Amino acid sequence: MPARPTDLIHHRYVPPAGFEALQPGVFKASTVLFPNVAALRARDWKHKDGYTYGLHGTPTTFLLEERIATLEGARHCLLVPSGLAAISAVNCALLAAGDEVLLPDNVYGPSKALAEGELARWGVSHQRYDPMKPADLERRIGPKTRLVWLEAPGSVTMEFPPLAQLAQVCRQRGITSALDNTWGAGLAFNGFDLGTGGRVAPGSGADIVVHALTKYPSGGGDVLMGSIATRDDALHIKLKLSHMRMGWGVGANDTESVLRSLPSLELRYRAQDASARALARWLQARPEVAQVLHPALEGSPGHEHWRALCGDDGLAAGLFSVVFHERHEPAQVDAFCDALRLFRLGYSWGGPVSLAVPYDIPSMRSAQLGTWPYRGVLVRLAIGLEDTADLQADLEQALRALG
Ligand SMILES: *Cc1c(COP(=O)(O)O)cnc(C)c1O
Repeated sequence: MPARPTDLIHHRYVPPAGFEALQPGVFKASTVLFPNVAALRARDWKHKDGYTYGLHGTPTTFLLEERIATLEGARHCLLVPSGLAAISAVNCALLAAGDEVLLPDNVYGPSKALAEGELARWGVSHQRYDPMKPADLERRIGPKTRLVWLEAPGSVTMEFPPLAQLAQVCRQRGITSALDNTWGAGLAFNGFDLGTGGRVAPGSGADIVVHALTKYPSGGGDVLMGSIATRDDALHIKLKLSHMRMGWGVGANDTESVLRSLPSLELRYRAQDASARALARWLQARPEVAQVLHPALEGSPGHEHWRALCGDDGLAAGLFSVVFHERHEPAQVDAFCDALRLFRLGYSWGGPVSLAVPYDIPSMRSAQLGTWPYRGVLVRLAIGLEDTADLQADLEQALRALG
């Protein structure tokens, strides 16, 4: 089961003796002092029974790690300076020269850039697979495959894959799987316990769940942070050792911002979901729009997979894309984007302000896989916390600029 807001709000926190408040402290330190040399030698930074150095954790970062682990249904969690750093940290910890990593064709773009850049330079090869076809993933797993990335739905194009089947392929072949769970935010489904038809199969999901806390957990558009959650002790230690050696840490103030936003996570997620669905349905009926890509909408690619995993009245993030009719030239779609007033142009999502970005999808896809069937230009819309009616009016006036 996904985490409940009560679990995040009434999460264990032991305030300093004599200071009975619910709000956690913001502890800042590089140096942590030891009472004597014996204590200095005895303290093991790998476990959370003590503090050794600011980079290895403070009471503030340990608390957020524990709360994100609760949110994701994990046992362990590591914090890193961005969502992308969570992806690179997993690759760094688990891959070596000669290994291969598999990425869904609609993977978060910079993850692909990392595979084509640093990973290639370090002798790690990659292949892209069609995430809608578990048989395609299975076919590509070879003797060099060490890691499979999963993402649901795909970045920007929003196809919802048969996630439980993809994870099962990895499990059967003994390959570690890592899920980018930013969209689901630990609320729409649990990345470790997938299932179908409303039945959850414990342990059937990914081995590692990463989350761009930059998005919904921050909720303010003012923090960059990522998390890496695991259930397996040995896997966690492997990740933690690499995390330590690479010197990844997060700031206390940023950590506190996320701690402050977590209690309202589910409220915001539900509100942005409801607003996005209303706008997506409205856009679906507009003559300018060829296809709305929103996993909770019937007729959207992978809708049946979303329904099987998240349930008939399941949750979805407040994020969707529209493909315009091909009669609207790219320049006209740019004019639509430029005409938006409440929607601002910019990357990221999960904050209070609605955002729009046009994408050139064919340039992002593998031509051989042929996973992109549309001809028109795609615009991704991230719905914020404004009034839905105001957002609809903004879209309506901007559609006039399409010509
Ligand atoms: C935003 C995002 C990331 C990266 O997060 P940053 O904190 O911006 O680096 C990774 N994966 C997905 C799916 C995202 O949407």
